[in-house]
Amino acid sequence: MKRPRAEPGSEQLLSRETRLEPISFGRWRLLLAYPAPYRVGMSSLGMLTLHRLISRRPGWGVERAFLRTGKDPLASLETGASGLAFDAIGISVAHELQLGAAASLLQRLGVEPRRTRRSTSRGRERSPLVVLGGPMTSINPRPLAALADLVIVGEAEDAMGKLCDELEQGLDHETGPGTLADEPGFWWPAAGAPPPSPLRVGRDRLPAHSAIWTPDAELRSMFLVELGRGCDRACAFCSTSRVAAGRCRLVEADRLLSLVPQGAARVGLVGAAVSDHPQLQGILEALVEGGREVGISSIRADRVNRSLLDLLTRAGLRTLTLGVDGASARLRSLVRKGVTQDQLVRAARLAARAGLRRLKLYQLVGLPEEEDRDLDELLRLTLELGKILPVTLAISPFVPKPGTPLADSGQAPVKEVERRLRYIRRGLRGQVRVQPSSARWAWVEAQIARGDEAVGEVVLDVWEQGGGYSHMKAALARTRAKGKVP
Ligand code: SF4
Repeated sequence: MKRPRAEPGSEQLLSRETRLEPISFGRWRLLLAYPAPYRVGMSSLGMLTLHRLISRRPGWGVERAFLRTGKDPLASLETGASGLAFDAIGISVAHELQLGAAASLLQRLGVEPRRTRRSTSRGRERSPLVVLGGPMTSINPRPLAALADLVIVGEAEDAMGKLCDELEQGLDHETGPGTLADEPGFWWPAAGAPPPSPLRVGRDRLPAHSAIWTPDAELRSMFLVELGRGCDRACAFCSTSRVAAGRCRLVEADRLLSLVPQGAARVGLVGAAVSDHPQLQGILEALVEGGREVGISSIRADRVNRSLLDLLTRAGLRTLTLGVDGASARLRSLVRKGVTQDQLVRAARLAARAGLRRLKLYQLVGLPEEEDRDLDELLRLTLELGKILPVTLAISPFVPKPGTPLADSGQAPVKEVERRLRYIRRGLRGQVRVQPSSARWAWVEAQIARGDEAVGEVVLDVWEQGGGYSHMKAALARTRAKGKVP
């Protein structure tokens, strides 16, 4: 097969990757395109897992493309081909604010982003089937209809095989969904039916794991493997436990350890509830004794103990990341977070004794019923923790997500959330590193999260016109006035 010239920089990126399997080329071609840069996409276990599964399928070649800053055309990392060279383009959308990025990705790959324009392209250069998936589909896939010929709703591991079967039989965006119309989890927006319920794969399908790692990823040179999927804690604001991933499905230690390749010096343990895994200590011991470094997602303060922290320190961890998720004990109780001030202080002391160098705290601001006295409690707690270890406070404005108990609780006005963020920054200035997310874009995220197909079209309108937040706010407000956003 003739290989087109690769895009600049891709040869170097490819040469620095460690791959368990060679690059696959075949009669059918899938482009896995990620709406963020290479370093982010190559830390996405979902993308890496689909890449591994389809690369093994006889007759199939899987290539990758990533969004870069700028406006220049994008192409496949492996061959430099444009999007039009593929039978299908798969894009994983993690959250609502990636819609515009997904549109840019398609456009710069040479593919018309808007589904309704693509569907009238008969006679022009043939478009690949645009398939969207990822965590956002479990929460509310409707806005994705503006872009997608086909949406895989929920966990896609089993569905990708069925999709490939259909593509081999000639499925494209003009043939209609074929037999996929009767398959659970597939949504063909042009057919006009409502989206199906999210797919969930069985425990036997777990764990997701990577087959490529690279020093150029955010999770640098890490073999990624999931300890489990979902969470049973059911914090009231969290979509992971309710809709995004559902009930906790844990992976047995023996199975997980058997998948770690000999050559992987660094192992990233992924999951929403890693510290709830009853065999976590044994898994860490085995990895550390094998001479590996370990990276781990955030840990619940009520699961921290001395031996766990000693192991994590030996595994190379330098920062202990804890979810606080409520400014005061009152709010944490209201959202059923179940983490106390004493547990947080104790975890910080144990971390300092174990030799960790920093605490990173995830905090929500703008929860229902939040008042300044709650923020004062947050300031006192953060400063107390800061006396034990240097603290980074990552603050996300609360976004009510469909399917959670707080879905209809509303959001504090943007100006009020911005005032609260300033209040916290002022209270911690010079003492704590504060990393706030944007209150404005959290508002946009909430509008899209509960929007329908028309909201997806509005997002594309604004994206096409190069509009920023003010433009998006006005357009979404007009749509809401017409009853498109509840
Ligand atoms: S916030 Fe964390 S602990 Fe709570 S339900 Fe979500 S994943 Fe589980």
